[in-house]
Amino acid sequence: MNCMLVKYASEISLKGLNRRYFEDLLITNIRKAIGNEFRIQKESGRIYINGYSDDLAEKVRKTFGIIGVTKAEIVDKDMDKIGEVAIEQMKLLKDVKTFKVETKRADKKFPLQSLEISREIGGMILKNVEGLQVDVHNPDIVVNVEIRDKAYIYTKEIKGVAGMPYGSAGKGVLLLSGGIDSPVAGYMMAKRGLELVCVYYHSHPYTSERAKEKVIELARKLAVYTGSIKLYVAPFTEIQMQIIEKCPEDELTIIMRRYMTQVAEAVAKKENAKALVTGESLGQVASQTLESMLVTNSDLEIPVFRPVVGMDKIDITAIAREIDTFETSILPYEDCCTIFVPKHPKTRPRLDDIRKSEEVLDKEALIANCMANMEIIKVNNL
Ligand code: ATP
Ligand code: MG
Repeated sequence: MNCMLVKYASEISLKGLNRRYFEDLLITNIRKAIGNEFRIQKESGRIYINGYSDDLAEKVRKTFGIIGVTKAEIVDKDMDKIGEVAIEQMKLLKDVKTFKVETKRADKKFPLQSLEISREIGGMILKNVEGLQVDVHNPDIVVNVEIRDKAYIYTKEIKGVAGMPYGSAGKGVLLLSGGIDSPVAGYMMAKRGLELVCVYYHSHPYTSERAKEKVIELARKLAVYTGSIKLYVAPFTEIQMQIIEKCPEDELTIIMRRYMTQVAEAVAKKENAKALVTGESLGQVASQTLESMLVTNSDLEIPVFRPVVGMDKIDITAIAREIDTFETSILPYEDCCTIFVPKHPKTRPRLDDIRKSEEVLDKEALIANCMANMEIIKVNNL
């Protein structure tokens, strides 16, 4: 018989009085990821699932909060049987030269002590598997034996995505474009437990249906980790046209960014979300200088999280590849930001000037109109 042994971040067990809340949410999230077929049990800082397959392991591994999953064999608490399984597991491993056995004895009635169990099982392995040596300090592999209601034996661990349970840190609105950076930014905040609602600014007919499909696809890739995601498609043409018509050319981008974040804030209010998330990286383009970010933030009441602000494209791309958003992000469809780019955008905008330039716009009406015509799409990970 086998099962899946799931280890979760120690940060979760350190939450004092809130520990139960974090653990229960983690189990709820695993349940959402794997469905109702299996039993999920929590026991002394571990989670056990009564079954194992590679597909199941992959789903559990991608649940935020999980640091590792392993396939554990379950046998009676009998030293010969434990030894047999340990030998079998070691024979299956390739390129392993050194090992050690580690034992946890939760059942204190078991006649041998942890060290004695480790020593005896280690001896059995040495006798039966060729070419192995014990190395207690830096082994290639650790054979784990846990003596509980039964004996559990496991070796190879698959790394989990770590982080905190999704939804444990409240809700935020991710400004999700079709680029490389914003899906990574969303992933990073979701990994810290922030539930995401996404907003995409769509400038029909200047941006195509395919550009929108691409963003839906990116949301779907994020949903592999988060379960499902709500995506607001914001009609942005009217706002952009008014800005282009009425505001100075070198201020178009910064004013547009202020509108984007203010629409996102309206979505946040509606969704009871308490932060915005963007994929801005310091100095990457004119709208991402410190001065531009300051002017973008100035009329917002809620914080803007920019988790990739200190990362360069190489770092961000590495994560995009890891979470499988990169190939979608580089599809060549136009974004609303790239359609009307001023030749010389201001890199050091001043708030007073920008506010003055914006006076010609009916901000309330523009935002209300955009909100009234939102398309809402529920994106699943299937
Ligand atoms: P990305 O790779 O995430 O598109 P970028 O490097 O292209 O970022 P910008 O186009 O300046 O940078 O956008 C900065 C941030 O503003 C994006 O990371 C995203 O959070 C948000 N954003 C830009 N365009 C859109 C859009 N059309 N819809 C939603 N959010 C957007
Ligand atoms: Mg972009």
